[in-house]
Amino acid sequence: MGFKTSGRLAARARLLYLVIPAITIVILLGIGALVSGNIADDAARRLSRQYAIEASANFRANMDTHMILMQQIARSTTISRWMANEDDSEAKAMAFNEIMGYAIYAPEIYLMLTIYESLQGWDFETDLTFEEFAPWGILAGGDVSAWFFNTRDAEKPFIINIQRTRPVDGDFELYIWSNHRVYYDGEFVGVVTVGSHFDKVFESVFGDFDVYYRRGYIIDRYGATRLDSAMTLYVLADGLPTFPEVPEALENPVLANAIELHMHMLVDGAFPIDAEVHDTLRLEYGNYTYASIAPIVGTDWSVVVLSSAPTVFDIRYMPMIYGGIAVLILSTLLGGLLVRRMILAPLLRLTQTAVASGQNGSKLYGLAREDEIGDLARNIDRAQETIKQREKLLKAVNRAAKVLLTANEDNTLDTLMEGMELIGTCLEVDRIQIWRNEEIDGELHFVMKYEWASEIGAQKVDINIGTKSAYSSRPGWLEMFKRGESINAPVSQLPPEDARFLGYHSIKSVVILPMFFDRDLFGFFRIDDYQHERTFSDDEMDITASAALMFTSVFNRNLQRELARTDALTSTRNRRYLVEGTEAQFAHSQQENTDFSVIMYDIDHFKNINDTYGHIVGDEVLKILAARSAKALKQGTELIRYGGEEFLVALPNVRYEDALNIAWRLQKTLESTPFTIGDLEIPVTASFGVAYKTAETATLTDLINLVDRAMYQAKIVGRNTVVGQDDM
Ligand code: GH3
Ligand code: MG
Ligand code: MG
Repeated sequence: MGFKTSGRLAARARLLYLVIPAITIVILLGIGALVSGNIADDAARRLSRQYAIEASANFRANMDTHMILMQQIARSTTISRWMANEDDSEAKAMAFNEIMGYAIYAPEIYLMLTIYESLQGWDFETDLTFEEFAPWGILAGGDVSAWFFNTRDAEKPFIINIQRTRPVDGDFELYIWSNHRVYYDGEFVGVVTVGSHFDKVFESVFGDFDVYYRRGYIIDRYGATRLDSAMTLYVLADGLPTFPEVPEALENPVLANAIELHMHMLVDGAFPIDAEVHDTLRLEYGNYTYASIAPIVGTDWSVVVLSSAPTVFDIRYMPMIYGGIAVLILSTLLGGLLVRRMILAPLLRLTQTAVASGQNGSKLYGLAREDEIGDLARNIDRAQETIKQREKLLKAVNRAAKVLLTANEDNTLDTLMEGMELIGTCLEVDRIQIWRNEEIDGELHFVMKYEWASEIGAQKVDINIGTKSAYSSRPGWLEMFKRGESINAPVSQLPPEDARFLGYHSIKSVVILPMFFDRDLFGFFRIDDYQHERTFSDDEMDITASAALMFTSVFNRNLQRELARTDALTSTRNRRYLVEGTEAQFAHSQQENTDFSVIMYDIDHFKNINDTYGHIVGDEVLKILAARSAKALKQGTELIRYGGEEFLVALPNVRYEDALNIAWRLQKTLESTPFTIGDLEIPVTASFGVAYKTAETATLTDLINLVDRAMYQAKIVGRNTVVGQDDM
């Protein structure tokens, strides 16, 4: 069952490790897509327009030097005069000087004049001297010279060209050329050309464009792309550029229409200063969402900017997203696996072994581990040990209780031994002793009364039953016991005096538990362990205390029984004892067919003693008689006060002849010495009857009737004598 529960737990944990990250991923992606989608969409729309405006402004700003320079040269009559009269050396020198002034002024700009009449081109390099000043050649025909004639025929006075050089080792250079018509006296005389590297302009116009989000084109008045921010569409055919249309305009008629409409703003072949930026368009097809068209003022060129709204699903982010998800899933799986291996699996094993060890006592998993599972295992182990120990103790006490509470006077000692053995074995100790308090010569002593020893304990017996010590020799003990406090410690931890007293024969641990009887200190219960240094647990002490109580109750019960069977005046047995004790002895004798004799005696003329000295003295006589009789009898022979001054001696296993002798001994004991009571000396005698069990005496009553008759006979024959059954 434990397995199943833990299995479910593991499965649930595994599920959590998959479900939670999965939900997290979905939610994150959703939010990410929504938020970034909206933001990006709006931003793309606005940025599209902004970039178009900026790109056109930047382009225009970079063209300013070109514009100023070429217009300056085109308007110069010094220069145009020479261009109209190419061979006029004076005009040539003046033109040279003026242009060189500009050339020095704009060192990075390449200047060239092309004269219409001769179609000769003249370069102006920075270090050029007039002597070196010579035409570089004659303009070739065909497409190569298209720029010249295009300039001549253009609607506006100049045209711009962007040109890429042939690639050298894969590299190429980008140039921008501005060509302006030159007139002299209203006659077209040639073209001034201003050229420069376009790299920096490109950088400032399209530098931060990228293919995925933003694309820029510079288009001419025919909608053909002169420059592409990606520089991919700039195709060279025999060294000449072909200008394709904006591809997005081909896909999206909306854009194509807008471009066409945009061109209507041209005035005299150029966009005027107040030419407006076209409203941002939303595209239906292709990679981009928005398109903006901005005129480059002063030219017939425009900037087209295309933008897309980026989302988290943007192809550029996909590898990152997939990677992130993969890492998340991997780390989740790995985490789950680790948790399973490091926590759930050990927990499972602990649960399984805990169930097993609870049933068959097998070893728990994880006891040696240093982590929390180890702590848990050790706690479970301790708890199981405690439960087991408690169970064992309870069982022992239960059994001891059964034994002790059903004890009777015949088996008291056996019962006590059995009870002590049960407790001793269960506590795994080597010796248990019951010491009772006894007043000896006016001083309170503790006397060892009962003892049980284990096998080990038995080899070390050194205290005999009856060993006694005065409480005065153990200072503090009596007070401590009266307070109900116990000694419970390894001997080594006791005060040195006590340790010496208790542990002088290598006892390792000891418990001394006071026993109470009717709130009076009755004695104590002592437990010795020869093998282990230990302090008994609360459970063990509680159970020991219960056992001690039961032992006390056995003594108590015996005492009560003794009291009930004892005559208060003479301390001999009474009639009750006769009924309970002697009857049993007689029955036993009948069964075993053994001898059984009785003696009965009655004080002679006791009435006279009472009458002469009074009842008090009479009572004293009875006491002395009982004491003398008891002394004359063997230890263990019961003397029973049968009536007022009549006594009975029950003698199991005693033959008639021996009984007669005992009777005569008693008779002598009384007769020999008068009784001394105070100043009085009173002679006391008694008459004795003796009887024994025969076939005719089936019951004790029969026997007593018989002995009574014998005693009566003794009275008749003169008193102070013995009459036996066979004498009658
Ligand atoms: P006999 O020799 O015939 O036995 O003469 P007796 O005087 O002893 O006669 P009997 O046995 O009839 O007398 C018994 C007397 O013992 C009667 C009673 O007053 C007295 N007696 C009985 N019990 C007690 C007792 O407990 N204390 C005292 N002081 N006298 C007792
Ligand atoms: Mg009598
Ligand atoms: Mg008498």
